[in-house]
Amino acid sequence: MWLQASVLCLSWLTLSNPTKAQDQASLRHSNDPTGRCQYTFTVSSPEESSCPRSSIEPEIDGVLARLTLLEVLVSRLVAGADGGTRTEDGLQEAYSHVTGEKTQLQQDRERLNGQVEELQRRLAELSQEAESLRQTPCQQTPTSGGAQRKNRPASDDFGNGAYQEMKAEVTEVPASHLIPEGNHNLTGCGELLSVGDPVLHRKADGITGKYGVWLQDPKPQSPHYGNKTVWRIDAVGKDVRQLFAYEDMDQFTKGFPMKVLVLPEPVESTGATLYQGSLYYQRRRSRTLIRYNLASESVASRLDLPHAGFHGQHPYSWGGYTDIDLAVDEQGLWAIYSTSKARGVIVISQLDPKSLEVKRSWETNIRKNTVANAFMVCGRLYTVASYTAPNTTVNYVFDTATGVGRAVSVPFKNKYRYNSMMDYNHAQRKLYSWDNFHMVTYDIRLGRASS
Ligand code: CA
Repeated sequence: MWLQASVLCLSWLTLSNPTKAQDQASLRHSNDPTGRCQYTFTVSSPEESSCPRSSIEPEIDGVLARLTLLEVLVSRLVAGADGGTRTEDGLQEAYSHVTGEKTQLQQDRERLNGQVEELQRRLAELSQEAESLRQTPCQQTPTSGGAQRKNRPASDDFGNGAYQEMKAEVTEVPASHLIPEGNHNLTGCGELLSVGDPVLHRKADGITGKYGVWLQDPKPQSPHYGNKTVWRIDAVGKDVRQLFAYEDMDQFTKGFPMKVLVLPEPVESTGATLYQGSLYYQRRRSRTLIRYNLASESVASRLDLPHAGFHGQHPYSWGGYTDIDLAVDEQGLWAIYSTSKARGVIVISQLDPKSLEVKRSWETNIRKNTVANAFMVCGRLYTVASYTAPNTTVNYVFDTATGVGRAVSVPFKNKYRYNSMMDYNHAQRKLYSWDNFHMVTYDIRLGRASS
């Protein structure tokens, strides 16, 4: 009876409101353990606050939160591991680099030691050869024609035990320079006949040695420094003050200075020169000339060179603020420069070596910025056409005795292709030059006759 009533009631509910019954009620039946049919009737109820939420949801939320936290931790760990690997890689790379450089430096050192030994061996051989040539009587026979054969033994006046490279070459010289062999001048004055090949004495080992000045005093006066002392200024930089002194050419070649003098005023460019125990140079960014006494290590005199262009107004063709070039020859101290009045042509002034006052000036007819450099020999100015061409010429001479200038063509070699300084030393009868880190000398030959 109870079952029937329930079924009737359910049928009525289903028939009277079918949609609501489907949404809100369900009937399930199954056997119970005793084998009887059991009916379960479920009806949806309105949402009630007293009814507890599913107990699984907070746990899922907790698990999700922990998972997020773990993901963050894993990300950090992965990133940390990568960073460590990168640091380690960087250190490995730096270590390899340093090791490579060390190996390279060792190889360079070995190579340089080998070169030094080779040069010392060659020097010993040449000294021996020079000595034997000195002891052999030298016969000179005049030749004729448009060429002169040079085959001279070592010069006696280039330091004791030093040598001059043997030459056996034929050089064309202009007809005006033709003087019979054996008639050229070993000690007195005359016009420039030829310039020999450059002889290397030292290669600068740092970037500050790209250009500079190196010289020997042709007329030393101090007991401190003689005619063997070699002087050097590396001219690269904005505050050039260091003057290196070497005991002799041998120590210079080996790179062992005996003293470094610090000049009280900075040096401009490569125009400095040495004379009678003083260094003469142009003060940086000025037309001021300074005479620095090497023995007392103090400024002996200073004077502005009147109207001289400076710091790029009238440089030689290679630039480098070579506006004022100082030179010494048999007749004394000279300045080679230009002025605005002379409009860029070379002006030569003979200077008083003590006071630096201008004794006399000459205006030439060659523009300063068209030539590479200049030097004075026997009161004559010579200019060189190019500072980079390996085979160039001494292209102009101006004689202060006559006030006349003219073009000439005497071969000149820029072996290292960047010649920044040329200066004549009359005691050694050589040109001193600084060609692209290389400090070289050139033998020169002078004729007896003047122009
Ligand atoms: Ca010069």
